[in-house]
Amino acid sequence: MSVLRFEGVTKRYEGGHVALDNVNFDLAKGEMAFLTGHSGAGKSTLLKLIHLAERPSRGSVFFNGTNLLKVKGRKIAFHRRAVSVVFQDHRLLTDRTIADNVALPLLLRGMRRPEVNRRVSEILERVGLGARQRALPGQLSAGEQQRVGIARAIVSEPDLLVADEPTGNLDPTLSAEIMSLFASLPDRGTTVLIASHDLGLVRRMRRRVLVLNHGQLADDIAAEDLAE
Ligand code: ADP
Ligand code: ADP
Repeated sequence: MSVLRFEGVTKRYEGGHVALDNVNFDLAKGEMAFLTGHSGAGKSTLLKLIHLAERPSRGSVFFNGTNLLKVKGRKIAFHRRAVSVVFQDHRLLTDRTIADNVALPLLLRGMRRPEVNRRVSEILERVGLGARQRALPGQLSAGEQQRVGIARAIVSEPDLLVADEPTGNLDPTLSAEIMSLFASLPDRGTTVLIASHDLGLVRRMRRRVLVLNHGQLADDIAAEDLAE
């Protein structure tokens, strides 16, 4: 069964602008795919429909077989535990340490401190920030802050991780590092969808690429078809 399924999804914003036009695709469990296309193509809108920041005007989005139309009210919080989001600006709490930022999603779901601390240390080691747990976000470089954002997104072992231009502010070397970090997630069962307009970077990753063009899914390129 697919983790994510878009079925005839159209999104028309108030004022009549069509941001997505009859989009259809499936993501299988443990798959990693990129979402690309020009600025204004509809990438952010597509991700917003997945984490319920927006609703489709027509069609349906299914997550683990459930139509997201049925996910309302208190169920939205539960949905957002299963789907993590990484933003370009990472949105860290600037007055909390790195460890506290990463602990937050676990504390919010009622996990006990000893278990939280163990998991936070483990995940910060994994993203290469084991030595910076007590630092504040402002003391870290841009690439390190983005790694904290990713650590916070994956600490709760989400079924699906979506990222909106996660390397938008980073230089090519840091971007490649962040992408390898994402690429390690499917091995642990997390499905990954990353919006990026950096075509060079996307092609080098050799994963499936969904191409949006003026709101339409113009291409769906399998990883095997991305030649050198
Ligand atoms: P991308 O992420 O690919 O740059 P977006 O999904 O942000 O594209 O935007 C797709 C289109 O929808 C753009 O033309 C944009 O101007 C429009 N749009 C995005 N958000 C809104 C909104 N809240 N209200 C009206 N139009 C919007
Ligand atoms: P980059 O070259 O990747 O942009 P920076 O020059 O911002 O990185 O930072 C280099 C190193 O110094 C990083 O490990 C970062 O965590 C550390 N650092 C930067 N600013 C501070 C600060 N104000 N306090 C403590 N450490 C800092």
